[in-house]
Amino acid sequence: MKLLQDKIALITGASRGIGMGIAKTFAHHGANVAFTYSSSEVPALALEKELQSLGVKAKAYKSNAASFEDSAKLVEKVLEEFGGIDVLINNAGITKDNLLMRMSEDDFDSVIDTNLKSVFNMTKAVQRTMLKQRKGSIINMSSVVGVKGNAGQTNYAASKAGMIGFTKSVALELGSRNIRCNAIAPGFIETEMTQKLEEKTVQAWRDAIPLKRGGTPDDIANACLFFASDLSAYVTGQVLNVDGGMLT
Ligand code: NDP
Repeated sequence: MKLLQDKIALITGASRGIGMGIAKTFAHHGANVAFTYSSSEVPALALEKELQSLGVKAKAYKSNAASFEDSAKLVEKVLEEFGGIDVLINNAGITKDNLLMRMSEDDFDSVIDTNLKSVFNMTKAVQRTMLKQRKGSIINMSSVVGVKGNAGQTNYAASKAGMIGFTKSVALELGSRNIRCNAIAPGFIETEMTQKLEEKTVQAWRDAIPLKRGGTPDDIANACLFFASDLSAYVTGQVLNVDGGMLT
């Protein structure tokens, strides 16, 4: 059964990792997919083709989620080319880890801008359309680190915790118009972002997870499918940990 037949989804940061997994899952479920990247043009264009071969409309857009102006222009273009936006997934994110003692102002600001300000930029840009449509689902990719904190990631944890407050507030503001807003808090997902870590750190993470493995982009994509589809029609303002039991 196709859960997103003919829905239009806009996903930020889908040229690799979790975003790419979400784009593929959504296309398999019949969604038309607009997605962004910041610099990885080659994999983004390859993904565009792969999604189109599944019989859906798909397009890659180069757009900096941290820029208010870029985000507004992006949404305008997607509306022109796709005719609406039913689902927004704020997935683009970066890490610039360091102990607070050594963290530069630039490293703090760029992580907040890319991970948190981007959510404001994109949500504000789609809000009018979703209000007119009287429907919409917004999904914000937070992190277990935003729930529990992590040494060496004050910038990242603050951005991800901020996304949770933003999510709950949007759910309260827009619920009466049938616009839902939820967050996902992935645990340790094996993508390029986590490949930066040393193997012994990665193994320690895996050992500490009750399900004894790192997550995959598909694990997160399936949670997004739930929040994007009518299966979650009565769910808003929630944070779903998809972490193999890490925070249990
Ligand atoms: P990756 O680093 O593998 O991919 C990040 C994606 O975001 C890429 O497509 C990248 O594009 C894009 N991106 C980065 N900066 C921008 C920007 N300014 N504007 C638009 N797009 C941008 O990360 P993951 O797939 O691992 O993570 C995806 C999300 O999930 C992030 O928000 C991350 O914080 C969150 N998350 C990840 C976890 C993990 O364990 N992997 C755990 C918890 C949360 P490009 O390729 O062009 O640079």
